[in-house]
Amino acid sequence: MRFDTIIKNGTILDGISAEPRSADVGISGKEIKAIGNLSSARARQIISADHKFVCPGFIDIQNHSDSYFTLFEIPAMPSLTSQGVTTIAVGQCGTSLAPLPNIEAIKSVQKWHSLAGANLNWLTFGEYFDSLGRYPLGVNVTSLIGHSTLRRGLVGDKVRPATPEEIGIMSKLLSDGLSSGAAGMSLGLAYAHEADSTIEEMTEAAEVVAKHRKLLSIHLRSEGVHVVESVNEAIDLAESAKVSLKISHFKVRGEKNWPKLEIVLDRIDRAYQRGVDVFFDVYPYTTSWTVLYTYLPKWAYEGGRSAILENLQDSAARRKILAYLKDQEQKTIADIMIATSPTNPALVGKTLRQIAANQDVGVEEALLNMIAATNAQVVVFDRNISEESLPALLGHPLSLVASDGAGYDFVYSPSHGLVHPRCFGAFPKFLGLVRDKKVKISWSEAVKKITSRPAEKLRVGKRGRLAVGNFADIVVFDPRDIGSRATYESPYQESDGIDYVLINGKLVFWKTLTGETAGEVLKV
Ligand SMILES: [Zn+2]
Repeated sequence: MRFDTIIKNGTILDGISAEPRSADVGISGKEIKAIGNLSSARARQIISADHKFVCPGFIDIQNHSDSYFTLFEIPAMPSLTSQGVTTIAVGQCGTSLAPLPNIEAIKSVQKWHSLAGANLNWLTFGEYFDSLGRYPLGVNVTSLIGHSTLRRGLVGDKVRPATPEEIGIMSKLLSDGLSSGAAGMSLGLAYAHEADSTIEEMTEAAEVVAKHRKLLSIHLRSEGVHVVESVNEAIDLAESAKVSLKISHFKVRGEKNWPKLEIVLDRIDRAYQRGVDVFFDVYPYTTSWTVLYTYLPKWAYEGGRSAILENLQDSAARRKILAYLKDQEQKTIADIMIATSPTNPALVGKTLRQIAANQDVGVEEALLNMIAATNAQVVVFDRNISEESLPALLGHPLSLVASDGAGYDFVYSPSHGLVHPRCFGAFPKFLGLVRDKKVKISWSEAVKKITSRPAEKLRVGKRGRLAVGNFADIVVFDPRDIGSRATYESPYQESDGIDYVLINGKLVFWKTLTGETAGEVLKV
């Protein structure tokens, strides 16, 4: 027998089996052709995997490379391939880059990224996927359809419930997109332009997704004070529409709210037991990466960025906002660190406490000044998730592990600012926590959470498990070394312990990036 590549003497974690086993893997073209004893076979390329784990490529079911625009700026996405990611699902948190019934639709990206210089030459979801397929993609890409994108194409910049006619058009656009290969739909209920969606509107959309047997991904309305109600809302929606539900970047934010975690996990468990197909993704960090304006009271950001800026100039509204912020947890607000601000890169890395001291104002004032000075385009780091909750969430039987990050290269750029270390090291960090027994699950269970389970939820066929006939998306890693070196101050770092990464049969990482790009657009 002759193969293009043989991975020899590895310990196979195939993404399905409970126990690891020793075997060789034979690859030709894009496919896995044989798994077993291949000692008498020949190959153009032999990869030695002694003492290493060989597993399916990691599937990042919650990724923002599209809304942060790096999908086009850095299509090779080295920060992802170098941590073993072979497939990403973008279109999260209510925002996708298609369909675009008109130019208003794309504006929901602006809370994360400026649209200056963007060249969007598609209207339908099918045309978007065709366009994307012409980029040299580093990883396989699939996408959900963002509800906010659909909505803004019709309702525009206004914040109001959609009319029955508009709901009908949204359903049609959604259905067409799902037929063209989109993996599902996402809601971003915390954001201004979706906050007014009625239950009828959301249910109708969720039913369209259910009819296509695809995925509904929800960024909860609240991850803090109202997290219990928000989880109930998501579960009720999924239960009535009979749709598969993923809660995005699940966590409880703010020390005051941490005791609510037990309640929401209980709600999720009970929903699952009565037949709701609910699960959640988690990133292995206690610091969130958040759009700053979402710290304002909801009424202050209804109406989007222009309304926010107006409110900040109106002295009565500003007083009301300050009173609201002072009522929150002081400690948390002061430690918020500016991560990205395209308009004010000099402030990157500073905390609100430092900015407040410089401006000789309170931290709440400093927060408002930051929003005003940056045209409400500012993303921050906020350490607001409890250390104890992390192992419980990562190890939970219904959790998947995902980055919630985006693809970057290894060069700092002022327009990207400080990116969250999860963009570079989420998966190695998670595996390191498993090795160190901080997360008490087996290696095979850990690998399932980042391979076969997300593949099944996204319905990307022939990926997520090592099996003959499947695509050769494969990671070889060293369990003794696996871990992340990326930090908040210095995120642009390669991980430890990733030895080889193959995508569609091509070797894209061999101790370091090979420069090969082998990703494809996955229509599901
Ligand atoms: Zn989100």
